Amino acid sequence: MKHLYLHFPFCTGRCAYCAFLSGPPPAAPAAYVDDLLHEAAERGFSSVGPLDSLYCGGGTPALLGERGFVRLRESGLFSLAEGAEWTVELHPAAVTEPLVRTLADLGVTRLSIGVQAFDDATLVRCNRRHTVRQALDAIAIARAAIPDTGIDLIAGLPGVSSTEWTQTLRRALSLDLPHISVYALSIEPESTWGRTGMSTPDPDALCDAVAEAADTLSAAGLRRYETSNYARPGLECRHNLNTWHGGDYLGLGRGAVSRLGCLRRTGDGIEETLSPEDDALERALTGLRLAEGFDLEATLARFPILAPYRERWAKRLDDFRAHDLLTADNAPTRRGYEVLDAMERELLR
Ligand code: SF4
Repeated sequence: MKHLYLHFPFCTGRCAYCAFLSGPPPAAPAAYVDDLLHEAAERGFSSVGPLDSLYCGGGTPALLGERGFVRLRESGLFSLAEGAEWTVELHPAAVTEPLVRTLADLGVTRLSIGVQAFDDATLVRCNRRHTVRQALDAIAIARAAIPDTGIDLIAGLPGVSSTEWTQTLRRALSLDLPHISVYALSIEPESTWGRTGMSTPDPDALCDAVAEAADTLSAAGLRRYETSNYARPGLECRHNLNTWHGGDYLGLGRGAVSRLGCLRRTGDGIEETLSPEDDALERALTGLRLAEGFDLEATLARFPILAPYRERWAKRLDDFRAHDLLTADNAPTRRGYEVLDAMERELLR
């Protein structure tokens, strides 16, 4: 196994839009490492690796604390290959100098900070539990220890006007970051906003906000390499690229997803064995969201079981290009990104 995702399902509160599996932190968060070891052993892994990429996501992995991360590194749960990428997601309020210095010493190579907005009133509405000042300080502290530090933003948050969104993007760019993720807000029924009947953002306004992000960030040298992700060349997240290239990965922790051969394990621990054809379809079509373009012949060479789709897919891809949804290299255009799900459905019909 070359790619491992570790999920840390605890947070200090609940963001209003959050539909992820997450609860209050345990009394001793560092002890969660034992749960991960136990789960790995139960699933037949004594040590995972050598890994090309490790991603610690959440939840709030930082609640593990310095001692917890040292314990994680020394636990024998995983080994890292030479030049491995190790990403840790950080909540701004949890970033401290000792923590990021410890992470750097342990071999963490990338940090991803959930900033979401550059306006305190918006952060309060979202119940983010940090201020803009804290986010800016967190970014500065994190970059001093680990220069490959990026941020997440959310497009379409309620109360954010188009002018404020333009300012948000400008502010993000002024930080000269290597990586920015821009997620379009969706109101999931199980989130606080979903349960209280918050209406979904206007689809046209949301598309405009995402398109503006694409234009602004691309013009500043942050290439849109996937639907929601922008990076300076060479600083894309290799862990996520493996997933979008349809590669295998192991997920450990409550809420972690795994994809191992034809096995798909959801965050609820439900395992499903896909047919070889469904497995190949799922892996092949995730490539459609990448800016590197969908190479039909390479895909069919990799998944010979999909050969019967050749003619149909070639025709549909021609149609998508004719409608300006794909470029000549079969990468989504700006409009193509907006209708990616519909394109995927068309290919599956
Ligand atoms: S920090 Fe992330 S996982 Fe935790 S409540 Fe907020 S969105 Fe959910």
